[in-house]
Amino acid sequence: MNTAQYISQVDRWSAHNYHPLPVVLERGEGPWVWDVEGHRLLDMLSAYSAVNQGHRHPRIIAALERQAARLTLTSRAFHNDQMGVFLEQLCSVTGFDRALPMNTGAEAVETAIKAARKWGYEVRGVPAGQAEIIVCEHNFHGRTTTIVGFSSDPRARGGFGPFAPGFASVPYGDSGALEAAITPNTVGFLVEPIQGEAGVVVPPPGYLARCMEICRDHGILLINDEIQTGLGRTGRLFCGDWDGGRGDIMIVGKALGGGVFPVSGILSGSEVMDVFRPGDHGSTFGGNPLAAAVGRAALDVIVEEDLPARSEQLGGWFRDTLRAAGSPFVEEVRGRGLMVGVVIKRESGPARPFCEALFEQGILAKETHEQVIRFSPPLVIERSDLEWAVEQIADVLNNPALARGAAA
Ligand SMILES: *Cc1c(COP(=O)(O)O)cnc(C)c1O
Repeated sequence: MNTAQYISQVDRWSAHNYHPLPVVLERGEGPWVWDVEGHRLLDMLSAYSAVNQGHRHPRIIAALERQAARLTLTSRAFHNDQMGVFLEQLCSVTGFDRALPMNTGAEAVETAIKAARKWGYEVRGVPAGQAEIIVCEHNFHGRTTTIVGFSSDPRARGGFGPFAPGFASVPYGDSGALEAAITPNTVGFLVEPIQGEAGVVVPPPGYLARCMEICRDHGILLINDEIQTGLGRTGRLFCGDWDGGRGDIMIVGKALGGGVFPVSGILSGSEVMDVFRPGDHGSTFGGNPLAAAVGRAALDVIVEEDLPARSEQLGGWFRDTLRAAGSPFVEEVRGRGLMVGVVIKRESGPARPFCEALFEQGILAKETHEQVIRFSPPLVIERSDLEWAVEQIADVLNNPALARGAAA
């Protein structure tokens, strides 16, 4: 089959809930992927940061294969010999006391919401059914009905109500607005240290640290969603490390699965985690031995290959070089580490045609929220590959003919 045939097969048999670039991939290695036509492309999305370690990292694949040959799923009805050692490692790497494993990011966010609410009732004495959680405008925390209910994106919410009550929304980057929104029933503040899906929005310096102070002063939990920003992406192990902390509950996912398997979880102190008791919460696949083995290898690679430092060095160079290349279409290049957003001016039209032109040049990147091209290559990328990428990107951003459909 050719590209068009693969695509029409999915169109025929699936829901139309995505608008992918017209490329069908069949193989990957490190930062590179190959499509069914044999083209080699540089993956500068990394599955939204789920492939920080690169495609098919040998160490992670070896762990997957080793564990697949022994035991893959037990459910939590029984213990398995992999989960404990994984969670011990996850806690020691992150500095938290307790970890609760889930699979997808949205599930982990749901887990954090449940933990914060129950903590609010049992520890803080909030009246039953009254717990409130403050979230940020333009947040992205996943796709469950509860989570989209507190989204400000009409496409994410529209047609999916009614929604769960108990959430209040404040502008992102404004710690004063957070403080003003706190009520006696507030139990937590859920925040992304950089808003990825909103377009790589970096908050003002000191924002997260100030939010943590406010949460501490008011006795509420700071719930730090590091699903996309964590595990080296922003040039620190966790993005919160730039700004004073990892939070009272930290949510991890994406790269914790090393690009091969969904692995997520929440981390917290025991005072929060101890609110869960048998029967309260769970997941058939959460903490399965295959995921635990993969998660350990995924963490090993991030720590031992010092991917946060690579991300900081290469990301700084990448952003500086893109800025220096200039472009009549670009309003701003922003981000931290290798989490980079190139904002296209409104009068230059949407970002999508630029992503299509980049694809023609051998680079896979995806627009987010109309105006922003997101670049988040695997953190294992070689400097020479990134240099090549910058040449292609600078070409596209300076050549209206390449960005077909872009309004010059
Ligand atoms: C991707 C993402 C999620 C949701 O993760 P899924 O695995 O897609 O459910 C939640 N929060 C943030 C910040 C994300 O980037």
